[in-house]
Amino acid sequence: MGAPLLQLTNVTKTYGAGAAAFAALNGVSFEVAEREVVALVGPSGSGKSTLLNILSCLDQLSSGAYLFQGQDMSALDPRRRALFRRHLLGFVFQDFKLLARMTAAKNVEMPLLYLRVDRGERRRLALQALDLVGLSGKADRRPAELSGGQRQRVAIARALVARPKLILADEPTGNLDRHNSQEVMELFLSLRRDVGATLLYVTHDEHLAAMAGRQLHFEDGRVVGDDAG
Ligand code: ADP
Repeated sequence: MGAPLLQLTNVTKTYGAGAAAFAALNGVSFEVAEREVVALVGPSGSGKSTLLNILSCLDQLSSGAYLFQGQDMSALDPRRRALFRRHLLGFVFQDFKLLARMTAAKNVEMPLLYLRVDRGERRRLALQALDLVGLSGKADRRPAELSGGQRQRVAIARALVARPKLILADEPTGNLDRHNSQEVMELFLSLRRDVGATLLYVTHDEHLAAMAGRQLHFEDGRVVGDDAG
């Protein structure tokens, strides 16, 4: 494995204050290397989504340190956090979060719009990303004209189009049937090779978790297991 892409040291996240304070993360430490693939597993309420929010800089930690490529992320101002998300991060959601009125290609172009890539280049890169996820013929379809598996493929194309370093996914196959789950997960995992990205995904499915090279087990806001294989 290469140099660490990210390092968490004793990270806590507390919601509320005083007697009502609740530690959703309670001293989490781990490193993830460049191009590693990690499944986050654990019961509901164990802190997995809270962790994704912190890794994506949508939320800030209460104490501890989060370094990304050696840089202290907790020190970034909101503008730099937004730039981090635009340039270095891709995200895949359980419920796809596609814009219903836009075509597949326009959905995939969205991250490039924020990066001010010009129109022709946006279209070209979006078609390339759709090709990579096996949807070259569907560029001008709207989400309602696509199956669940195809919608998530569009969302994966959107997550990879700006070539991020890190791609996070929160139960990316949670809304799909078994067959589509397997296919979409294989596609997601191929981004490590095709995009050179580091992948972290939450799943409740043991079989899908086993497809990652490493499983981090969460319980009560802590890492209780870190298994390879
Ligand atoms: P998981 O993703 O593993 O199901 P979460 O990270 O969503 O777990 O939640 C961890 C714990 O933190 C849960 O007990 C949840 O109720 C609590 N929690 C999450 N977000 C908030 C919030 N905004 N305010 C208060 N408590 C929260």
